[in-house]
Amino acid sequence: MQCPQCQHNIDYSWRVYASNPLGRFTCNECGARYKLLRPQLYYVIAVLFVSLYTGSALALVYYGAGLFSSSTTFTAAYLVHLMASCASWCFFDRRYEATLPTGLR
Ligand SMILES: [Zn+2]
Repeated sequence: MQCPQCQHNIDYSWRVYASNPLGRFTCNECGARYKLLRPQLYYVIAVLFVSLYTGSALALVYYGAGLFSSSTTFTAAYLVHLMASCASWCFFDRRYEATLPTGLR
């Protein structure tokens, strides 16, 4: 990812990604404040993903509870589902955002 003012490149690492969920940054070189320019489609896909995730989580809660022998196993399955969904989203989201253009804010 590049600063729009001085063209300084930063590595869009997991640390940078995780500490800037809103996609807003301050350049270490020139102090410019800039943001990721996410296309509108990004938000559409994010909403779709969250709906899909919420839908499958609800399905697990309503229909999956009977499949598990204890509530502990059920909670574990639910947590695995939650972590897997978040991890898969973050994995693709970070790679995608690293390619996005930036603009001053
Ligand atoms: Zn800069």
